[in-house]
Amino acid sequence: MPELNLILFGPPGAGKGTQADRLRIDFRLPFISTGDMLRANVKDGTELGKQGKDYMDKGELVPDELIVAMARERLTEADAQDGFILDGFPRTIEQANALDAQLAELKRRVTAAILIDVPGEEVVRRLSGRRVCVKAGHNYHVDFDPPKRDGVCDQDGSRLIQRDDDKPEVIRNRLEVYHQQTEPLVSYYDQQGLMRRIDGTRSPEEVHDHIRAVIATLRMEDDV
Ligand code: AMP
Repeated sequence: MPELNLILFGPPGAGKGTQADRLRIDFRLPFISTGDMLRANVKDGTELGKQGKDYMDKGELVPDELIVAMARERLTEADAQDGFILDGFPRTIEQANALDAQLAELKRRVTAAILIDVPGEEVVRRLSGRRVCVKAGHNYHVDFDPPKRDGVCDQDGSRLIQRDDDKPEVIRNRLEVYHQQTEPLVSYYDQQGLMRRIDGTRSPEEVHDHIRAVIATLRMEDDV
């Protein structure tokens, strides 16, 4: 079956990670999150982690050349050859151009960019209550999706913390960065006829169903 090369788009807190987790299982595709990769680099104290940390803590974008090199390497790994789900990449026009160029070299292309749309005030509400486990990054929300035991991950028993960049002042900056640098990509992919919009204010189940329906339609249209 031809490959499915998907990009998940949307402001921080739109639920991209939650949906990617489900789609990864539905379609058996690797889930590639540049944010997760960077956080792993910070945790491991690599050179890339050291270079990226200050930007991440402020909610700024890590420079394109660092991100493009990291994503490029990841996309050459064996598990990404039959398709992938990208979360948080590309985030600038320059990154999108680099991704297109890399795929074109391999006679591949982006199948669709799926925008999970959520208004700014909802983003702030979601991110300020988000807690993640230190071991694997499993997500919870203090009001909407609390763990069974306060401060403890249901799935692996590790401690739940608030990401440094989920503090209110940083959230506002991340949203601003999203509007200025990442939103232009909506028309970039629109012009290529690849953008599909999803209402991200619905429940995770409804959003998931909608994305699956979009992918099913794409497969019928393109025979992918
Ligand atoms: P995320 O978990 O996707 O919200 O990413 C967390 C942080 O990592 C962002 O606020 C950026 O500082 C950095 N980051 C992740 N992906 C990218 C990217 N594609 N380009 C630049 N910076 C990124």
